Amino acid sequence: MSNATQLIHSIPVDPLTGSISVPIYQTSTFVQDAPGVHKGFDYARSNNPTRQALENVIAQLEAGASGYAFASGLAAIDAVVKLLESGDEILAVDDIYGGAFRLFTHIYAKFGIKVNYVDTTDVANVEAAITDRTKLIWLETPTNPTLKISDIKAIASVAKAKNALLCVDNTFASPALQQPILLGADIVVHSATKYLGGHSDLIAGLVVTANTDLGDKIKFIQNASGAILSPNDSWLVIRGVETLYLRVKEHSNNALKVAQYLQTHPAVDRVYYPGLTEHYNHHIAAEQQNGGFGGVVSFSLRNDTELAARKVVTNTHLFKLAESLGGVKSLVCHPATMTHKSIPSSIRQAAGIVDSLIRLSVGLECFEDLIADIEQSLDKLAAKEIVQTNINQSVWLS
Ligand SMILES: *Cc1c(COP(=O)(O)O)cnc(C)c1O
Repeated sequence: MSNATQLIHSIPVDPLTGSISVPIYQTSTFVQDAPGVHKGFDYARSNNPTRQALENVIAQLEAGASGYAFASGLAAIDAVVKLLESGDEILAVDDIYGGAFRLFTHIYAKFGIKVNYVDTTDVANVEAAITDRTKLIWLETPTNPTLKISDIKAIASVAKAKNALLCVDNTFASPALQQPILLGADIVVHSATKYLGGHSDLIAGLVVTANTDLGDKIKFIQNASGAILSPNDSWLVIRGVETLYLRVKEHSNNALKVAQYLQTHPAVDRVYYPGLTEHYNHHIAAEQQNGGFGGVVSFSLRNDTELAARKVVTNTHLFKLAESLGGVKSLVCHPATMTHKSIPSSIRQAAGIVDSLIRLSVGLECFEDLIADIEQSLDKLAAKEIVQTNINQSVWLS
């Protein structure tokens, strides 16, 4: 059976009523027949049937043993870090999601958990940086916003040899394109806010473990710390996930066309998209991602200034200027002043997040309309550049 068919039928029909849509159990507690005698549910922080339906779906989607739903992607990440103890170390991808960086360095550092950041696009860097104290390797692939690709299988074997856990934040690829557990990862996390929810209408996080031992530990943390996903939002994620394969395929098709178009425009300097053969580690992405390269494309401008980028991101009409990604509507964002503003300029630039870098979350509109929208915005910039070549930049940009 195909993955899409399996997914659609992994969402259960309600055994009580036959409802084809999972019921929303909006309740805090469950009546017991005698103390401790109940139908598998006692208190809704510990377990809720709607949340459990989502948790089972994501475990299947990621080919894992157990799944857990949290109030946000960061709450999911937080639950995984709580597996560690004071004195343990995390080895993390250097181009990490900013919120994970903040959590690691500003919350967990003071509890004695150290984080080393390395460029994981080369597995040799991981081998060189791993220590006996490394208990967790933290990977994102592709990363945000420069779509760096790391070899999950190769890094999983480095982790195994050192008895460290490998956790992959699979938000950008989604399980429709990449299943890290099948490549050797122990844990997968998601910001379900993005492609899994898929409609820019909720905040949610998920954790999937490769085995039930790890799953039981995450379940304990979920209940003990309490950052659970509500029944309503669990239902919305299930509703989004039903069309995951369809959406991600189309996001990927559209993004590839947009990336190829950007390569041809004279105002554009570099284009970052794992589906382009010249993208660094494209061959690894092609091997570990099936059926597409995702919906996020980033690019920089020949005129590498913040002002030029501002012009482009404020002159698009279909691409709405906003943080986040993975929704039906296309979004555009300027990482240097939006998502990555808190990172010092020198570190930012070294990571490729130059002043003119622009990130697109390519949505599900017709790609010709999207390309026309980008073109009219870039052309405004290019025309100004051509007309004003002899004038001091600061004059025409002001
Ligand atoms: C958005 C995002 C997160 C955080 O998820 P929230 O749902 O916003 O808490 C984590 N990782 C990645 C890669 C993200 O894009």
